[in-house]
Amino acid sequence: MRRREFSRKALLAGLATGTVPVPPRSAPASEDTYEEPPKKIPARRFDVVVAGGGTAGVFAALAAAREGARTILIESKGYCGGTATEGGTAIHSFYNLYTAFPGVEKRKVVQGIPDEFITRLTAMGGCSGYPEMQTGRDYDSVCTAVDVELYKLLAFEMLEEAGVHVAVNTLLTSAIRKGDRVEGVITESHGGREAVMAHAFVDATGYGDLCARAGAEYSVPDDYASCNSFGLANADIEDYHSFLKTHDAVGQVCPDTREDAENRFVRMGAEALEFPGLADEAKKIGVSLVTTTVRDNYLMFIKCNYKVPGSVLDRDDMARAEIEVRKRMARGAQLLRKHVPGFGRAFMARSSPSLCIRRGRLISCDYDVSHEDVIEGRHFDDDVFAYGFHDMAPRYQIKDGGTYGIPYRALCVKGIDNLYAAGMMITSDHRAHMSTRNTVSCMGQGQATGTAAALCAAKELGSRELPGTVLRDALVEGGVYFEA
Ligand SMILES: Cc1cc2nc3c(=O)[nH]c(=O)nc-3n(C[C@H](O)[C@H](O)[C@H](O)COP(=O)(O)OP(=O)(O)OC[C@H]3O[C@@H](n4cnc5c(N)ncnc54)[C@H](O)[C@@H]3O)c2cc1C
Repeated sequence: MRRREFSRKALLAGLATGTVPVPPRSAPASEDTYEEPPKKIPARRFDVVVAGGGTAGVFAALAAAREGARTILIESKGYCGGTATEGGTAIHSFYNLYTAFPGVEKRKVVQGIPDEFITRLTAMGGCSGYPEMQTGRDYDSVCTAVDVELYKLLAFEMLEEAGVHVAVNTLLTSAIRKGDRVEGVITESHGGREAVMAHAFVDATGYGDLCARAGAEYSVPDDYASCNSFGLANADIEDYHSFLKTHDAVGQVCPDTREDAENRFVRMGAEALEFPGLADEAKKIGVSLVTTTVRDNYLMFIKCNYKVPGSVLDRDDMARAEIEVRKRMARGAQLLRKHVPGFGRAFMARSSPSLCIRRGRLISCDYDVSHEDVIEGRHFDDDVFAYGFHDMAPRYQIKDGGTYGIPYRALCVKGIDNLYAAGMMITSDHRAHMSTRNTVSCMGQGQATGTAAALCAAKELGSRELPGTVLRDALVEGGVYFEA
């Protein structure tokens, strides 16, 4: 059989059975090299550079600019929001897990700019706010579901208001390092290459690109499945609820409590669904049967998980994974259309522009938040905010429905004097990372690092010279809530 013919047959067979074939690995990389000639390029100067305009980066840039720093946000895509707008279902979590611990006080433990953002997004009609979970209350107390397009719009609006120089469609490609300090970064856009110099830097690229280019210590754990997520239009969450109810498989549920609610629910998940042809096939191709929405007749997020064979840092491994996941998503949409009554005319209306990773590089910082720190609810002298959600609940929960602190040291990149890490790239222990990597934690890390970077720039200090009280006062001023 000719190769082309074989591939076509294999693909069709895969779509029919759910066992989509994985493309073969390509030949090893060439050993040829090319030496780039030196070149003069334009340079600009800012106080603070934030690399990556995703979940953490937006809040880092907002915090830095509000602190008075001339701030540039460098983002490779044409919008800001990152994985919060591409991968997730609900934004976990602004609250402690009070619903799982009777008698424990309900506390909104992440406040500051992230909470302000959600309040504005809710007022725009782009967020559920904080409705309480009806079932699944030992996993999260509330469900904050977002409209991803309005999220992106609001991110732009707030960045503009704060005076951040928003450099979207701009890729950070290397770093300029002198001794223990980063002096600048090199970017590429359609306009060409540019150097951007600054006093302090925040790496919020998810992948840890800036840290790696600056020579920071890192590892690549490759310990998670990656994922693309799609939106399914012409599919009503109430029909999905009826279907699960019929099969006695209703799992996590959160009602929509907004006055002008379009649906009765913002979150719906299957639990122990026994439905041959759907549940088993969905599992085989990694399609999750948990969804959230804030819209009528539209399931905003359906995840398609896939463990990349190889590394999330390998270009060719990722290219093969992108192809594979697109096939699986199409198959997932097809399964739901076929089996869920009311979904007969459903179609895939949105997908993420590229595969979302749960972890890329793990960056070594001055402190590594441990599993015990998280579940014991430890706080530190240099806390920069409190956090109370764990993605492995109810197996792992923070003691007594409380919170733990993210210490400032956990965000200071080891060996470099003016570089912070924020987002999914901190915390080595997989179990602890299953807490710190969540959206709202990344937002809090963003506000903390952006504030610190701006203060260091204003006072011409290195990150380890910044007095803790000065940072704490600025964070309190910025609305951050502390538990210790
Ligand atoms: C599939 C999936 C589902 C998830 N579900 C949930 C959930 O339901 N609830 C929850 O709370 N959390 C969830 N998470 C976790 C959470 O969403 C992420 O851990 C978090 O959003 C990561 O934020 P970040 O700022 O570290 O990275 P990101 O939000 O990914 O931001 C990184 C940004 O940097 C940009 N970038 C990268 N490299 C460069 C470069 N070289 N130059 C310029 N820009 C660059 C990227 O384009 C991106 O915008 C999920 C994660 C995944 C992957």
